[in-house]
Amino acid sequence: MNRDSHDISRRQISENALKVLYRLHKSGFKAYLVGGGVRDILLGLEPKDFDVVTNATPDEIKKLFRNCRLVGRRFRLAHIVFGRDVIEVATFRGHHGENSDNISKSNAEGRLLRDNVYGEIDEDAERRDFTVNALYYDISDFSIRSYGGGIDDLHARKIKLIGDPETRYREDPVRMLRAVRFATKLDMQIEAITAAPIKSLAPLLADIPAARMYEEVLKLFFAGKAQANYQMMQDFGLFAPLFPQIQGVISEFPKGHAAKMLNLVMRSTDERVNQDKPVTPAFFYAAILWYPLKQRADDIALESGLPLYDAQVAAMGDVMEEQCRTISIPRRFSTPAKDIWLLQIRFERSQGTRAFKLLEHPKFRAAYDLLLLRGEAEGGHTAKQASWWQAFVEGDEAQRNVIAKSSNKAGGNRNRSATQRKRKRKPAAKSPDTSAE
Ligand code: ATP
Ligand code: MG
Repeated sequence: MNRDSHDISRRQISENALKVLYRLHKSGFKAYLVGGGVRDILLGLEPKDFDVVTNATPDEIKKLFRNCRLVGRRFRLAHIVFGRDVIEVATFRGHHGENSDNISKSNAEGRLLRDNVYGEIDEDAERRDFTVNALYYDISDFSIRSYGGGIDDLHARKIKLIGDPETRYREDPVRMLRAVRFATKLDMQIEAITAAPIKSLAPLLADIPAARMYEEVLKLFFAGKAQANYQMMQDFGLFAPLFPQIQGVISEFPKGHAAKMLNLVMRSTDERVNQDKPVTPAFFYAAILWYPLKQRADDIALESGLPLYDAQVAAMGDVMEEQCRTISIPRRFSTPAKDIWLLQIRFERSQGTRAFKLLEHPKFRAAYDLLLLRGEAEGGHTAKQASWWQAFVEGDEAQRNVIAKSSNKAGGNRNRSATQRKRKRKPAAKSPDTSAE
């Protein structure tokens, strides 16, 4: 497609990406903008980032840019760093020859462990995941090259894997999650042949390094499409291998509290993202793992005779550790998630001055948000407790004093409804503590 038949203008490409493209081009290398950057501009969306591909090797790239860092083990890549903006520059990837063991390597399931064979643009295109991601914008003549029908699929709104789907998923099972993510993000359909093997291959996700999975999960759930992604992951069996403990509880009670909680968390995460409010993995993981935690705590209490509080403390370590086998949650999020869990117990016994003390806890706001979701998921006793706290949080000083003296035990308090009726609605107290860290 030449420059007159598409509407990508250089104004839509970031200045830094253009700088990189021009420098490579002027030094005699081929240079293309590739992937999401081209795709999103053609769809009228604002690209999240710009990726560049070239026939220069990583070492050659490094010589051209002072602000260059070489990264990556699976693929060696160059990062050109402009302050907080990073342009990723990859060298054309090639096919895997039979004797290329030291530069490309796969495991028994067919997963690629290393992929540092260099090639030409056609080969590079075949190594990409979906046709809509194999679009190249050529800086030398401003034309767009598409491979495997990428432009047609873009117009037909089809997510289509390049090559044989089963082989491509075995090479990299994360492509199954990417199919889902692009379908919801771009409002496209996963083409039938691309969708067909996903259900049976979904268990392969269990073997992906937990650190990579952490990043993928952020992209799935923190970009405004959590509900749609969650639903589609469940339909394809992609949720279970990532969150086995949660799926365990949901399978046992398909209409139970955990199932409801998952839907509520996804909904509220989308709402927050779409209102530009901060979201944090600490709250997200605390909320979705709450019912597996409860179940584990109950089991421990029953087996050991420990009081519930101690049983829960023990369960917290177990549940978090188990989750981190598939998704490595950084400590700066798992530690506050545990605080959020412990506060759920303290909410139960917080009459009088204790309630005021709890308000001061740094994780109060996040824990309170979880209590509200639990109230919605469970109804009954928890819903009553949630509304006791809501009245307390939203009340002014005088109202809080009255509420604090009343019992927050379910059914224990006649004054509460009176206070609630009288209470004037105020905007939520304090700024949300659920900020990203
Ligand atoms: P976005 O940045 O909006 O999530 P993107 O398409 O740019 O979407 P990236 O993860 O930034 O996705 O990857 C850039 C490009 O690299 C992709 O468009 C695709 O061509 C290629 N790519 C990325 N991950 C894979 C993969 N697992 N297998 C094959 N090709 C991939
Ligand atoms: Mg990208």
